[in-house]
Amino acid sequence: MPRYQDLVESLRDAFPTPVSDRMHDAYFAFSFLRALDRVDSMKSAAPLLGAPRDLDYGAARDRRIDEEPQTVEQVTQTLVDYFSGMFIWGHPRSQINVVPSPTIPSIIGGLLPSIYNPNLCSDESSRGVALAEVEMVAMTAALLGYDPHQAGGLFTFGGTGTMLYGMKLGLEKACPGTGQTGVREPAVLLCSERAHYACRTVANWLGLGESNIVAIPANEDNELRPCLLETHLKDLLKDERKIAGIVATMGTTDAFGIDDLQTIRSICDEQTERFHLETPLHIHADAVIGWAWSVFDDYDFEANPLGFPHRTLRALAGATRRIRHLALADSIGIDFHKTGFTPYVSSLFLTRDATDLNLISRDQSVTPYLFQSGHYHPAKYTLETSRAGAGPMAALANLRLFGKAGLRSLLGHLVTMAETLRERLEGHAATHVLNGGNFGPVTLFRVYPDGVDTFVAPKREQTDPEYRDRLREWNGYNRRIFEIVQREALQGRGVVLSMTDCYRESDYGEPIVALKSYILSPFTQAEHVEFVLDSIWKARRELQAPK
Ligand SMILES: *Cc1c(COP(=O)(O)O)cnc(C)c1O
Repeated sequence: MPRYQDLVESLRDAFPTPVSDRMHDAYFAFSFLRALDRVDSMKSAAPLLGAPRDLDYGAARDRRIDEEPQTVEQVTQTLVDYFSGMFIWGHPRSQINVVPSPTIPSIIGGLLPSIYNPNLCSDESSRGVALAEVEMVAMTAALLGYDPHQAGGLFTFGGTGTMLYGMKLGLEKACPGTGQTGVREPAVLLCSERAHYACRTVANWLGLGESNIVAIPANEDNELRPCLLETHLKDLLKDERKIAGIVATMGTTDAFGIDDLQTIRSICDEQTERFHLETPLHIHADAVIGWAWSVFDDYDFEANPLGFPHRTLRALAGATRRIRHLALADSIGIDFHKTGFTPYVSSLFLTRDATDLNLISRDQSVTPYLFQSGHYHPAKYTLETSRAGAGPMAALANLRLFGKAGLRSLLGHLVTMAETLRERLEGHAATHVLNGGNFGPVTLFRVYPDGVDTFVAPKREQTDPEYRDRLREWNGYNRRIFEIVQREALQGRGVVLSMTDCYRESDYGEPIVALKSYILSPFTQAEHVEFVLDSIWKARRELQAPK
């Protein structure tokens, strides 16, 4: 039995040395390279590492801590094994969801803090990394159209976190003192029926209650219908109900629908005035997906210096005409880990006015052990205490790497690929694009069997209750197409897509299933768009073949 001193001695090798030691530094770097090498050897033509596998949760629950330590090499191998069967999001045969592959600088941006462990609760414990957060707040605020000298913000635990902050500010404005006394009167959250379920999470956790969400119907382009928002607001305010806030979804998760923030703002301002509210209604823009399009706010669409194809230009301009109004929101949520190509988690919450953060600030007397020196103490107002430096460092890495021109080009390329897919799907009688009025990298579509008149069927599926049985049948058909495409793709043939069980409901309340292609890999080329079509035709033939 080794004595404890021997164990400590050998465990020291598992830490990076505090004082540079060439041999040991090499051992650290080499250990990491070995892990990378091992993961790399799991790559193939298929868009996943190793082979698909069934996950054994029974064995996972039976796992216990070992008695004896393991070596760095053993642990590394064990860790690598967990990645077997993992999707490679950046693979051009992978068009699954809004999950990007991180860039090399953003990975390094995330890695360095994981070695030196800055804590963003204060600049006492994060030093220069605190500057990275302040720079990111300023850079992003300016990019989105806020006055960077007036705006405030912080990195938090995901897009859900950004919405939690937004609605917390809204609630504190609508019902001052709630943070101290608790929720005394019900307050309402208004959002689009297409809004992310994070709205529900936030209403639930803030104590507003999910039943106090008013979901405003959306139009066929997946945008909240402003006239209905106006009606609901008037009714609520007439009844003297409190409004915690309005969430404008600037890029829906499934379809890239973008709410008309400009009209929402003027409706809210009119009602604020009309009902003599003490503080203006708080609008939070859930721009976790759409924010990136703000690089086109000042793009010269006429001269088109980057040389985008016409169809792409139209799509980019279509999204930008909404995104350019982002600064009308009182607060904004941004996910760099979605359309900013960083690792999870890198989410930024911005407020137009930094003084709004005073509404949620802690009293110095509660944190006597913190903030004894330094100038930047975000933990005074953050929900979190410890916060990693990885989020801002990764985001900073990418904004530096891309610049405006790089991010424009990257998004322009992805949209070009998506537009190519749409053009092909629109051109074929057996397929129908469902979100033709949305201009992002995501395409939702349905596939039909031979003999269906796709000039008429999609419309009637949506509106005509007599089509209920056919709608259900074709839902099943699309599910089977999806299964075949998925099976083939996991063997390295075709492309991995995803499926949504309910793209939307028909007018008579039946869910409409859709196939989904989310193109986010910079490696996607026109040939990969062809792969999508090929695998759909192949799946159709398989379903049509006599059994
Ligand atoms: C993904 C998403 C969220 C949630 O963001 P997380 O970073 O996953 O917490 C919220 N809103 C929209 C529109 C989203 O797409």
